[in-house]
Amino acid sequence: MTEKINLKNLQLNEMEKLLTELGEPKFRAKQIFAWLYKGVESFEQMTNVPQNLKEKLQKAGAHLGLLFPAKVQVSKLDGTRKYLFELEDGNAIESVFMKYKYGNTICISSQAGCRMGCKFCASTIGGLSRNLEPGEMLEQLLAAERDTGEAINHIVVMGTGEPFDNYENLSAFIRIINDKNGRNLGMRNITISTCGLVPMIEKFGQDFPQVNLAISLHAPNNKIRNSMMPVNKSYPMETLIDACRKYTEATSRRVTFEYTLVKGVNDSENDALQLASVLKGMLCHVNLIPLNKVEETGLDTTDQKTAQAFRKTLENKGIPATIRRELGDDIDGACGQLRLERKK
Ligand code: SF4
Repeated sequence: MTEKINLKNLQLNEMEKLLTELGEPKFRAKQIFAWLYKGVESFEQMTNVPQNLKEKLQKAGAHLGLLFPAKVQVSKLDGTRKYLFELEDGNAIESVFMKYKYGNTICISSQAGCRMGCKFCASTIGGLSRNLEPGEMLEQLLAAERDTGEAINHIVVMGTGEPFDNYENLSAFIRIINDKNGRNLGMRNITISTCGLVPMIEKFGQDFPQVNLAISLHAPNNKIRNSMMPVNKSYPMETLIDACRKYTEATSRRVTFEYTLVKGVNDSENDALQLASVLKGMLCHVNLIPLNKVEETGLDTTDQKTAQAFRKTLENKGIPATIRRELGDDIDGACGQLRLERKK
């Protein structure tokens, strides 16, 4: 049986190797690579590639790794589109297309499921199925562009999965999407969000100093963080914050801390004061996110007044903070929810 080759998993040098193996000149690799990121849906659309090469590629098992949404929810309020993609092996993943003043953004998944076990998160119910390949990450953006007819110029890897738990594929994905011969998306337009796999933070800072780093912090101390995020037992807050400080010193880049406000769990004034003291003096920004309620977690949302008070306390202590504008309020908001519903 011919092994299948998803061309979107290949970096340009790997594509050149494939073409050489097929007895073709290297420059053909560049042509094909460019077509992939123009969003073509078939080999036929690659007009400067000879027919016999297209046939050779298909005979060798090469394909374009296309994804088509099994479900799309569209917000009537702001145009946010939430996609459910079914993968070939029966797994499903979610992505969210959002419109911001600075441009269109896609939030993509890096794994099918997640093994990190955060208590407030629907994506981890059922655990990890598998890592996504680089091409499956890329296709979430390309499929959303085909669907909307609009260019996307920012990516956040903040959907299902822990990106640093799939570091090799994540790295390949960043290199492919950044390649000037293909999509040429700027490193600064990419944000990776981790729940705090500390050893990877330093490596990431060295490998991709231009890519934005976001940390899912969600708590001001170990006691609360332990109760919400099992990862904190392996990498407690002091280790995490220390790694973040070193990262900002090494890269001169600001770290964004994601902080989901959960009613009665981590949203008191005392919590805000503790958080301010933990982050004191760091080049950072806090993104406060009122919890998107998921029935299965039994956790509740912080009201607007409490959220504003939390933000003010942080700002009074010199920590820049914003409350994330809720997009797509009229569609199932929480990450992992579409996937969960599909399993019911
Ligand atoms: S919040 Fe992120 S890291 Fe935590 S369980 Fe959900 S997908 Fe995994």
